[in-house]
Amino acid sequence: MHKAILVLNAGSSSVKFSVFGVEADRSLRADTHGEVEDIGTAAKLKAVDAKGSTLVAQPINGQDHDHAIAAIHGWLKTHFRGDSAFDGVGHRIVHGGATFHRPVLIDQVVIAELEKLVPLAPLHQPHNLAGIRAMQAAMPKVRQVACFDTAFHATQPAVAARFALPRAFTEKGLRRYGFHGLSYEYIVSALSAVAPDLVRSKVVVAHLGNGASMCAIDNGRSIATTMGLTALDGLVMGTRCGTIDPGALLYLMRSEALDAGEIEHLLYERSGLLGVSGLSSDMRTLLASDSIAAREAVELFVYRIGRELGSLAAALGGLDALVFTGGIGENSATIRARVCHDARWLGIALDEGANTVHGPRISAAGSRTSAWVIPTDENLMIARHTLTVLDS
Ligand code: ADP
Repeated sequence: MHKAILVLNAGSSSVKFSVFGVEADRSLRADTHGEVEDIGTAAKLKAVDAKGSTLVAQPINGQDHDHAIAAIHGWLKTHFRGDSAFDGVGHRIVHGGATFHRPVLIDQVVIAELEKLVPLAPLHQPHNLAGIRAMQAAMPKVRQVACFDTAFHATQPAVAARFALPRAFTEKGLRRYGFHGLSYEYIVSALSAVAPDLVRSKVVVAHLGNGASMCAIDNGRSIATTMGLTALDGLVMGTRCGTIDPGALLYLMRSEALDAGEIEHLLYERSGLLGVSGLSSDMRTLLASDSIAAREAVELFVYRIGRELGSLAAALGGLDALVFTGGIGENSATIRARVCHDARWLGIALDEGANTVHGPRISAAGSRTSAWVIPTDENLMIARHTLTVLDS
């Protein structure tokens, strides 16, 4: 292997990593990936090679992010025979605010700017920053690059990003940003191989995972998306509520006497599929359940996708294709079939057989609007960005 790029995604209870080998022609090859999961309770390190064979699976010392990254670094150092194997580290950063519209080399100024954005992503950004700091300490000679989930949406027109609040708040940065941008960017890059005719057209991508959002893409550029200032808006998610009447929050404060922290916990951790079903945040569990509440949770998940699809098609002024991605979008033929059934009015006719085998094209031959399944690869997108920044 020539040198390698390490991709790091530091979340609240896990730190995920992927290693991509850099080939002589600067293309990237997936090598190893793994994570420290269950940080805070029973942290353990796991890694597999490109074929999925286990390389390590063991508990680690300590239960915080510093210990998690120390464990990952220690293992990588042994497995790849030293830090000099790495060209750089690419970090997934949830919020780039209005400052960062593209990936950047990390220095103290960048870190200070990222600190200022913590209030916009209080549950994610601090972990991303902890990941940067721990990696800088572990590999001081290796350059680090920040890649943002918000950056792809910088092309949204001002009208799509604005809240109807007094302008002074907008000027302070209170506006829609959008997330899952690295996933959408990857899908745009994959379209040129899977469906080249769609690259210049009007596409809605539905990224349906634990976190879920949709993006209207015109000619390869984001023009509207369902998430907003935070990753809470839009679709029903595993534990997040998605779109909610802001008046409901005032009600919760006044009539239920919940404070900001309690509301935050309610909306991020106890709502969505979990809240409605009272059973699970996991779509597989809900689809397998015969409880009425589980059925209603799935019904609401599908219904909200349909509503947002109509809205995004209106923002695009038409629709040529719908692309499914993310854990649910890539794996659940049932959810895709239900979404496509509701979207018949937009000209989508499903090919049941193709849908059962996950496409890639899942619309029938005569379908006016096509539908697709394209697996996302946010880590590869981060590795590509990192290499580009390092090469520039
Ligand atoms: P994250 O947002 O954490 O990256 P993923 O993209 O991995 O999440 O998606 C996780 C979701 O995908 C879970 O709700 C899981 O149940 C769902 N999922 C995975 N496989 C299937 C499947 N075969 N059928 C239905 N849902 C699935």
